[in-house]
Amino acid sequence: MSRPTIDDAKGALKKYWGFDSFRTGQEMAIQSVLDGNETLVLFPTGGGKSLCYQVPAMVLDGLTIVISPLIALMQDQVEQLQKAGIRATLINSTLPGHEVEQRLVNARNGMYKLLYIAPERLASERWQIEIQNLNISLVAVDEAHCISEWGHDFRPSYRHIRDELSLLGDEVRWIALTATATPEVKKDLLEALKFKDPKVITGGFQRPNLHWWVNETDQKKELLMKAVRRGVKMGSGIVYANTRRDCEYWSKVFSQKGIEAKAYHAGLNNKVREQVQNEWINGEFPLVVATNAFGMGIDKPDCRFVIHYSMPFTLESYYQEAGRAGRDGETSYPLLIYKGSDTDLLKSRILRSYPEYEELNKVYMALCDEMNLAVGSEQENSEAVDYANVAKRAGISAKQIRIGIEVLHRLEILELTELHKPKTGIHFLVSRAYIREKVEELDSKKGEFLDQLFRIYGPPSFSDFHFIDQNYLLEKLQVTENQLQKALNVFSEHDQILRVKQIGETPLIRLINPRMPKLHIDQKKAYHYRDVLLKKLEYMEGYATTKGCREVYLRTYFGETEAKPCGNCDNCRSAESVDHHPVTDAEINKVRELLMSGEKDIDTIQRRTRWRREKLKQVIEFMEREEVITKAEEGNETYRLT
Ligand code: ADP
Ligand code: MG
Repeated sequence: MSRPTIDDAKGALKKYWGFDSFRTGQEMAIQSVLDGNETLVLFPTGGGKSLCYQVPAMVLDGLTIVISPLIALMQDQVEQLQKAGIRATLINSTLPGHEVEQRLVNARNGMYKLLYIAPERLASERWQIEIQNLNISLVAVDEAHCISEWGHDFRPSYRHIRDELSLLGDEVRWIALTATATPEVKKDLLEALKFKDPKVITGGFQRPNLHWWVNETDQKKELLMKAVRRGVKMGSGIVYANTRRDCEYWSKVFSQKGIEAKAYHAGLNNKVREQVQNEWINGEFPLVVATNAFGMGIDKPDCRFVIHYSMPFTLESYYQEAGRAGRDGETSYPLLIYKGSDTDLLKSRILRSYPEYEELNKVYMALCDEMNLAVGSEQENSEAVDYANVAKRAGISAKQIRIGIEVLHRLEILELTELHKPKTGIHFLVSRAYIREKVEELDSKKGEFLDQLFRIYGPPSFSDFHFIDQNYLLEKLQVTENQLQKALNVFSEHDQILRVKQIGETPLIRLINPRMPKLHIDQKKAYHYRDVLLKKLEYMEGYATTKGCREVYLRTYFGETEAKPCGNCDNCRSAESVDHHPVTDAEINKVRELLMSGEKDIDTIQRRTRWRREKLKQVIEFMEREEVITKAEEGNETYRLT
């Protein structure tokens, strides 16, 4: 195998991405991969992790396999690479078998430089055979925290990556990347990936321009109002709230008070969300009040403040959300506002969301029944399952079903691949000719709507239900969910020209083992994750209540070892003022002596006294107040004795 150099890598960076230089950490990471080290990269979100494997992929011979947890993420990345003229593709569970086959054949023939693959696909027999035919040079494990139960986004299939790829030889390079590796996660993931002598490259968690601030109060509302008023004087900002209702409420309140604000949450349709996002980014209005649905992939350099109106469950989320402030390097403020009892509330939410064995068993049995699975039989393929149906069978709420299924996923009882988006099905009960007539006959708005439906759904909807992605539909028709619902009701109930069926969000599920007569689980394992969440909440609480430097707390949490106090956070600031209060007689005398020989400016006084600026200001302010000294000239920081 040829031995590419860092200069080759720089060439590829320029050629394919058009960038002139690597960021410091990137260069170290890429060098490490080229040297053949097993490499772990820890940069915060937006730190530029992708290039750490994409650039090596372009300069190494052969194929780079990228393991990535989310289908949407994979698709994005592959599209971007293809746009840059790089041969990349992906394999996941949404592709039909013949398509997977075709891509594997292409890969064998060396047609790709990068192949993205979902971790659960690695176990398939087809892949296990094919892997021996592929000329793999590098394996990249993106979002590697998914390996660890200590990560906020644990995916059992991630744990088996190294085993599933055990056929690969020693010459194959490995790199793992994540934004969140607390010491537990780091240890866990290095073990699970069997990295023997890894090179760990970390950095970028320090944000010198951010002034971290925390306020505990029983008057959250008043404080939020004050903080936002102060914030918008500096520029744009985000308020993160807990619920959709809070977002709507506060965006109205702020707007009424003359601060233009808009809400953003998952309850709004795509079009509205995109619009809010773009207008905010373009500075058309200053304030977004959002749930944590806001922010993924958003890069607004001049966001001046991020206020959390409730405490997040983890520091990972907090750092990521708050860190959206000040990307341009200018002074910016992340502020956490909370009430002492908030943490108890969060704690009880974690505890409540953990079902007891009896409930898990109910979910399991109802799920198996829903999928028509007899005891002892095995399931070949994933199936789309409607939570509402399972809920009916089990006699518990759909929400409990969802939580139960998530726990069963963690316990590796089932494979949970992807959520199917909501779909709307239509079956026309009349002929096409009739629809055309109807379109003519109806008033223009209703007629046009029917015409569009007719075009979107097309011929298949005349023989049976035809289902279409609801979000796509809303966008095409330019209506809200509510309006769509009403219109379809009219056509089905009143005009009786069609039938409507809606499927909610459904997950793709596959039981990993044959159906058991009764659910059997490892209790210890089952409740481990709950304890992990509680522990994470403790760290979050620790951040809120620490008397030390906030930035040091965060950076230490993320595994940086040599963090020094930032001097800017609320604690650093108040430590300074506490330190030098009150002003002593000795200090007053020192300044008096200096000024005996005539007026002096503040810089000269500082040079002579060698005090820190804050302290000097404090002494001077005191002496001015006591009328011992006075400004020699208004507007000028030169002082003389009175
Ligand atoms: P991460 O995966 O760490 O969250 P990404 O790899 O998605 O971050 O990169 C974040 C952004 O930074 C991307 O828009 C990317 O193009 C940009 N970027 C990364 N490296 C560089 C570089 N060396 N020069 C300029 N822009 C870069
Ligand atoms: Mg990334």
